[in-house]
Amino acid sequence: MKTVDLIGHGGNEVVVVGERPMPERGAGQVLVRMHAATLNRVDLYMRDSGAGITHTLPQTMGLDGAGVIEAMDEGEPGLHIGQKVLVYPAVTCGVCEFCQSGEEVLCTRMSLLGEHRDGTLSEYIRVPARNLVPMPDSWTFEEAAALGVNHLTAWRMLVSRARLQAGESVLIFGIGGGVSLAGLQLAKAMGARVFVTSTQQDKLDRALALGADGVIHSREQDVVQEVMRLTGKRGVDVVFENVGQAVWDSALRSAVRGGRIVTCGATTGDQPGADLRRVFIRQLQILGSTLGNLEELKALTRFCEQQDLRPLIEKTYALDDIHAALDRLASGQQFGKLAVRIQG
Ligand SMILES: [Zn+2]
Repeated sequence: MKTVDLIGHGGNEVVVVGERPMPERGAGQVLVRMHAATLNRVDLYMRDSGAGITHTLPQTMGLDGAGVIEAMDEGEPGLHIGQKVLVYPAVTCGVCEFCQSGEEVLCTRMSLLGEHRDGTLSEYIRVPARNLVPMPDSWTFEEAAALGVNHLTAWRMLVSRARLQAGESVLIFGIGGGVSLAGLQLAKAMGARVFVTSTQQDKLDRALALGADGVIHSREQDVVQEVMRLTGKRGVDVVFENVGQAVWDSALRSAVRGGRIVTCGATTGDQPGADLRRVFIRQLQILGSTLGNLEELKALTRFCEQQDLRPLIEKTYALDDIHAALDRLASGQQFGKLAVRIQG
């Protein structure tokens, strides 16, 4: 079977499309014929260094994905052969205190597809049965695949961590990337007012078309001043953040007193000034978040199906064009997910 494998670190030449033997399915595991996956920023991190992430090369890339069940044990609840499913990327221990309390995203022995073990950019994968969620029937495999990482991350940030309520306001930094776009789509569907920032006017225009209530050009405008103008000098209830150091100061100064700042990334650096005086005097809540639990993925999938809220796919690449897809991701120019079609 065909796979996209990482054979080293640094440059596109360490990513190769190769042939591997079919995985052998063990008890409790399900064999899935993969149809599509989407790229995530961490794929670039794995390609370029992978530092701090325990893994052995060669390793198949890809965290999210969707496909059709090919083989499984009899009587797995809710699953059957021929079913269209999407993949939950975290394989967890099931016994630690976090797994026991349904917070397996905090599992001390978590292993992620495409980071610590072979991933989804493969014609077939085998995963524990619990890692599969039935996908919305009328969706494409690309759309379903995209729920598993970016939308799940945005869902946990907004719903479980920031506890966003209808009528509240949200500021999203750096619109265009997978998580921020998911944040915009989900926050709007939850009835929030959403403001977004970007350094690119075309991305702001597209965000407006998707329902953003206000846009801020972060190179030509002062973000905090604009937030105050848009909110009647109040500030936003929730700041949704994955840019890091470059915007952290603006994030702290854009939140209303008692507001929540939820962060899931630090692309531009992870050691900004903390401004603790502002944090305690204004009683800000700073919430860390990453990925989400299986139950959150199921709730997200139900919500998206009910609302027919589909992830935005910018472009779909053939498996053999993986280098072009990774280059596009690295360019930062994309607006929406970059998908890879695994079956022709
Ligand atoms: Zn665990």
